[in-house]
Amino acid sequence: MNDNNNLSPARRLVVLGAGESGVGAAILGKDKGFDVFVSDMGHIADKYRKVLEEENIPFEDGRHSEELILNADTIVKSPGIPLTAPMIVKAIEKGIEVISEIEFAGRFTDAKMVCITGSNGKTTTTMLTYHIFREAGIDAGLAGNVGNSLALQVARHPHPVYVIELSSFQLDNMYDFRADIAIILNITPDHLDRYDYKMENYARAKMRITRNQRPDDVCIYWNDDELITSLLKENPTDARLLPFSATDNENMAAHLHNETVIFTTAGNNWEVKRADISIRGLHNLYNTMAAGLAATVAGISPESIRHSLATFKSVEHRLEHVRDWNGIRFINDSKATNVNSTYYALESMDRPTILILGGKDKGNDYTEIEEFVSKKVKGIVCMGVDNRKLLEFFSGKVARIADTHSLEDAVKASVEMAEEGDTVLLSPCCASFDLFSSYEDRGRQFKDAVGRL
Ligand code: ADP
Repeated sequence: MNDNNNLSPARRLVVLGAGESGVGAAILGKDKGFDVFVSDMGHIADKYRKVLEEENIPFEDGRHSEELILNADTIVKSPGIPLTAPMIVKAIEKGIEVISEIEFAGRFTDAKMVCITGSNGKTTTTMLTYHIFREAGIDAGLAGNVGNSLALQVARHPHPVYVIELSSFQLDNMYDFRADIAIILNITPDHLDRYDYKMENYARAKMRITRNQRPDDVCIYWNDDELITSLLKENPTDARLLPFSATDNENMAAHLHNETVIFTTAGNNWEVKRADISIRGLHNLYNTMAAGLAATVAGISPESIRHSLATFKSVEHRLEHVRDWNGIRFINDSKATNVNSTYYALESMDRPTILILGGKDKGNDYTEIEEFVSKKVKGIVCMGVDNRKLLEFFSGKVARIADTHSLEDAVKASVEMAEEGDTVLLSPCCASFDLFSSYEDRGRQFKDAVGRL
């Protein structure tokens, strides 16, 4: 634990952004004796407004009042606010420390931290790790992008272990936080708009997860990702390295041999058959290796881990089987908001596929999925406000292509293209904000439309 005694009471804590993490940080700050103020540029959701009122924490919304913010000693910034936001720039210029909610919460707990980052697979791996820990009887808390905020749990419902999903935005403002177990799943282009369109900046943010790690800590990473291995070489961590790979490489802490995953840590060997893992697809094999290694290091028995790997249910909106209708299978992968995640969704398709894709393009390069499209996809349904880039790229590369601007029309078009034995896959490669409020909204609308067929 970072000693909080030197944080004398009545230091001013300003929380920018009153969502799950911000409100949690405000409550923890209040409990620890800070003079807390919360400010949100947008509208604060009723649920959080109510909590702030009940806790007697002063707040404002619809504006950021400089005079109430720039007198802070510490600012906790919501991961949604970019570092270039005017108020953040001013605060940094004034020398105010700007940190993330996870960094703040980490200052008030001794709990073991299992932290998961990567461009894709974070939520699945976090939920799977949490499932394995809980099933093994460990009192773990779930935090980060999923579950309740870490700060709120540290303040009101402390756990001895936390399993935390960390996005690059959270890692950006972490400094003293230390992960006992860090997992780096993969680094592929995403959110480049927040990193000056430089992959290097984004990758470095991800690698911050190894910051402050000590020799008795562990860093689990995907060995086949050249960017991760080169960044680890360039910036070595003191932690014990546990690489995993789906190749038959027995030097790995987890590898694949004859369709069996073999885990080897500190001379401890155990295995699980691929067929006995509930979640499917190559990408989920990686996620399983990462979670399995974290659990092994935490001392959970192979029997218990095997049981949990067999019983884990895939997370909503991630290759979620919606329904079979007239022999056509519908799969909701709305969480595929970048090209690489759609790559893995297509990788796992074993039937002719109609692919629904489109939305808010984050500077996508579709060449990554071109080969799978030519091998597995018989029709593409573009679904977005502006489909020009997709239509230009894929025209001539698939037998049929449709231009739609709503989910209802997209489902209609895909049903027209599909035959018995086909799969209709919603895996958009893009963010959802052009037509939907979130990827969850997009996924639910898809399920509703499919349900009405
Ligand atoms: P995240 O939280 O990082 O966005 P999710 O677990 O929510 O990750 O999965 C997001 C999407 O990425 C899903 O659509 C899934 O098909 C794909 N995916 C999951 N795991 C991986 C992985 N290890 N590598 C690449 N893609 C993955």
